[in-house]
Amino acid sequence: MIIARSAQELEDALKTRPGSRGFVPTMGALHIGHRTLIDAARRENECVVVSIFVNPTQFLPGEDLSKYPRREEADFKICELSGVDILFYPDVSAMYTADEIRITAPDVRGFILEGASRPGHFDGVLTVVMKLLNLVHPTRAYFGKKDAQQLALITQMVHNFFMDVEIVPMDTVRENDGLALSSRNVYLSSEERQEALKLSAALKHATKMVMQGNVKSFTIQSAMEEILAPLDVEYVAIVNRAFQSLNEVVIGDTIVLVAARVGTTRLIDNVWM
Ligand code: AMP
Repeated sequence: MIIARSAQELEDALKTRPGSRGFVPTMGALHIGHRTLIDAARRENECVVVSIFVNPTQFLPGEDLSKYPRREEADFKICELSGVDILFYPDVSAMYTADEIRITAPDVRGFILEGASRPGHFDGVLTVVMKLLNLVHPTRAYFGKKDAQQLALITQMVHNFFMDVEIVPMDTVRENDGLALSSRNVYLSSEERQEALKLSAALKHATKMVMQGNVKSFTIQSAMEEILAPLDVEYVAIVNRAFQSLNEVVIGDTIVLVAARVGTTRLIDNVWM
C-alpha cells in the first residue's frame, strides 16, 4: 500500500495503478461500516484509493473537530489488510489555502435537517468532496446511506458539475443490537450506548408500522418521538429521495431520518423504505 500525503504524491502513486479506480473518502477511526465500502470498492475496481482526512471546513465552531477520534496506526493497518492500493492521508495545508472558492449547498436540500442543525456543514462537505474527487479521478466513489442527505447532495453536485464519476450508495452497517456504526460511537459511555439504541429502535418501529399499513407520517413521527423521548431529539423527518417532506410513506421513495443527542454526542440514523 502506498501512503500519499500530498497532491503530488497522490498523482505519482496513481500513475503506478492503471485501470478502474474505486474511491472511499473517510475521516478515519475506521470501523466495519467503512470496511464494507472498501470491500465493495475492492470487488468492483482494479485499484482502490481510500482517503483519511478530518475536514475542518465541515465542522462548526464548538463542534468536535479537535477531539474527533484519530487512529492513524490502526487505520493504516485496516487499509492494508483490506487490500487498499493507495491511502491518501493529507494534512490541512495539503488540502486548503487561504481565501478559497467554496461550493455552496443548494437551498432545497442543503438547509433542512442536517443543514439546519449544522449550518455551513454541507458547504464544507461538498467542497472537500469536490477536491478529493478531482484529485483521485475515481471511476466509482462509495458513500454510506447513513449520511443520507450528504449522499443526496454529493450525487447532485456530481450531476450539476458534470463530473465523470459513479456515486455508489452503500447500506448502513449496524451492530447486532441495531446501533448504526459510527466513529462517534467511541464517545458514548456504556449507559449512553444503551440510550443510543433508541434511535434504531424508533426506526425499526417506523418500519413495523409501515408494514402494518400505518403510512401516515404524523402517526409514525409521534410514535417515534415517544420512543426517543428521553433523548434530546433534534429532528424526526419523513421525506422522499429528493428530501421533500411526505405526509404519507411511499414505499420505494421514502427515507425516515432521526438526529438526537445522547449526552453530548450527536448521532444520526435513518431507514430507507
Ligand atoms: P466518515 O468517516 O464518518 O466521514 O464516513 C466515511 C464514509 O463511510 C461515508 O460515506 C459514510 O456515510 C460511510 N459510513 C459511515 N458509517 C457507516 C455505516 N455504519 N455503514 C455504512 N457506511 C457508513
